[in-house]
Amino acid sequence: MKSDIEIAEEAEVWPIQQIAEKAGLKTEEIEPYGFDKAKINLNKDRKDAPLGKLVLVTSINPTPAGEGKSTVTVGLADALANAGKKTMIALREPSLGPVMGLKGGATGGGYSQVVPMADINLHFTGDFHALTAAHNMLSAALDNSIYQGNPLHIDQRRVIWKRVLDINDRALRHTTIGLGGPTSGVPREDGFDITVASEMMAILTLSTDLMDLKKRVEKIVVAYNFDKEPVTAKNLGVAGALTVLLKDAIKPNLVQTLAHTPAIIHGGPFANIAQGTNSVQATKAALQLADYAVTEAGFGADLGGEKFMHIKVPKLGKAPDTVVVVATVRAIKHHGGQALADLNNENLDAVKKGVQNLQQNIKAMQRYGVPVVVAVNRFTADTDAEMAIVQAAAEELGAKAIVADVWAKGGEGAKELAEAVVEKTAEPAKFSPLYASEDDAKVKLNKIVQEIYGGKDVVLSDKAEKQLASFAKHGWDKLPIVMAKTQYSLSDDAKKLGAPKDFSIHVREFVPKLGAGFLVALTGNVLTMPGLPKHPVAMDIDIDEEGHITGLF
Ligand code: ADP
Repeated sequence: MKSDIEIAEEAEVWPIQQIAEKAGLKTEEIEPYGFDKAKINLNKDRKDAPLGKLVLVTSINPTPAGEGKSTVTVGLADALANAGKKTMIALREPSLGPVMGLKGGATGGGYSQVVPMADINLHFTGDFHALTAAHNMLSAALDNSIYQGNPLHIDQRRVIWKRVLDINDRALRHTTIGLGGPTSGVPREDGFDITVASEMMAILTLSTDLMDLKKRVEKIVVAYNFDKEPVTAKNLGVAGALTVLLKDAIKPNLVQTLAHTPAIIHGGPFANIAQGTNSVQATKAALQLADYAVTEAGFGADLGGEKFMHIKVPKLGKAPDTVVVVATVRAIKHHGGQALADLNNENLDAVKKGVQNLQQNIKAMQRYGVPVVVAVNRFTADTDAEMAIVQAAAEELGAKAIVADVWAKGGEGAKELAEAVVEKTAEPAKFSPLYASEDDAKVKLNKIVQEIYGGKDVVLSDKAEKQLASFAKHGWDKLPIVMAKTQYSLSDDAKKLGAPKDFSIHVREFVPKLGAGFLVALTGNVLTMPGLPKHPVAMDIDIDEEGHITGLF
C-alpha cells in the first residue's frame, strides 16, 4: 500500500472552480487561493436556505495514532456521493503541532483523503498564522499598556492571556518576559499555549459572521486589575485591529476529496482543550449547500461529541440527524489491556473487555436522543472473530456496527455504512441536551461526568471553588462548560482504559473565555502546550529537488 502522501500526490485534482460549481456555489461566492483551494463567501440570500441532513462522526477513546475519524468522514461522504446524494464535508484544519509531532496530519488516509494534502496539513490558506498574529497582537497591546504607565491598572500577576504558537514546544510553557532593562517592558511571568488552544480560535469557529466575531473579541478577558475587576480586549482598544487581522481567516476554505466530493475545512480547536470542531460557518455552509453534510468532532464522543452537542448545536441551530461512532479493533484491544506494540495479534479476550469503552461512548451519544451507527474502521490485521464481538456489543445497545474499509477502498468501502446512515437520518430527530443553560456549573459538570463518562462525580479544587464564587459575581457562572481532559480515557487519568467506574473527575482550575462564551474546566494534568516526542514526525519529513514530499501522513 502506498503512503498517504504518495496517494495524494498522484491524485488527479480538479480546479477549485469545478468543485465550487459541483457544490452549487456561484462564481462570486468563491475567492480562489491558487489552483485547488478557495475561500467561500456565501451570498446573503442563502441565509434562510433550507438545511440538509447532518451526520456527525466521532469515536471511541482513541489510541495515540487516532482511530480514523477523518478517514471515515471522507470515505463516508464519498460513499454518499456515489449513492447519488448531494454531499459535502466539513472538517477542522490540521495543526502543525501534531503534523510535526506524534500523530501526523489530519486530512484522512489511504484512499479516503482530502487534497491538496500537503498544503492543508502545512500552511493552507494562512488561517492559523492569522490567528496566531491576532492573538499575539493582543498580548503585545496588553504589555504595551502596562509599559506605557498602566492606565488600566493591570495587575501583572493576574494576566490570564498567554502568547501562542502553532508548534509543540514544551520549553515555552512557562516564560519570563520584559527582561533587558527599563526600555524592554515590564518583567512578568508569561507562557505559551498552542494556537489551537487560543480563545481566538474558539471565537473564530463559533462566530456567525465578522461582526459577531468583533463583538466576541471585545469581550475577551485578558487580565484583572488591582481591584480584581476583569480587563478586556475592548479596554485595550484593539478589538477592531484584531478583527481586521481575521477578516479572511473567518471565511471557510473549499477543497475536495480524492473522489472530488466538495469539502470545507475551517478552524481547528482541539477537542481535549477546546470545543473541538470545525467552524459554525463551515458546517452551516455545508448544510445549506448539500443534502448531506458529514462533519467530525475531535477525539472521542466523550470530548468532541459532548461539546458538539452543548456548544456547537445551539450556535448552529441544528442537531445531528445521525452520529457515527468510529471504532477500531486495535483500540478496543488496547482498552481491553493489550499492549500498543502487540495490537496486530488476535486477542479475543482483550476485545471482549475493551468493547465496554465502545459501549459507554455509544450510550453517551444515545443520551441526546440521536440515532447512532458504529463504523468499524478495518485494519488489515483485524480478524472476523474479533469483528463479530464488536458487532455484537454494538447491537446489544441497538446500534448497527458496520465495517468500513475506506482506507483501502475509498467510498466503495463504505457502501453499507452510507446506506445505514441514510436510513437513520430519515428517522425523526428527538434531540435533547443533557443540561439546561440555566443549570449552575456544578450541575453541568456532574451531568457530563455521570451521563457521558460513566463516572461518579466531580471534585473541585479550592481554587476552582473560589473561582466559581467570583464568576457568580460577574454573572459568568451559567456559561456552558468546555472540559479540558485527556482523550485517552473516559476519566481524567490517561492510564484508566476501558470503561472505568466510580471515578471522580478533578477540576483544578477554570479558565473563563468570555468571547467564546464558555468556561474551560482544566482536569487532571491536561496540557495546553504539548511537547514533542522522542522521535517526532518532523525527523522523517523531507522534500526532494522535484518537490516530492516524504514522511508526511
Ligand atoms: P482520527 O481522525 O481519528 O484522528 P485519522 O483519520 O486522521 O484519525 O487517521 C489516523 C491515521 O491512521 C492516518 O495516518 C491514516 O492514514 C491511518 N489510518 C486510518 N484508517 C486506517 C486503516 N483502516 N488502515 C491503516 N491505516 C489507517
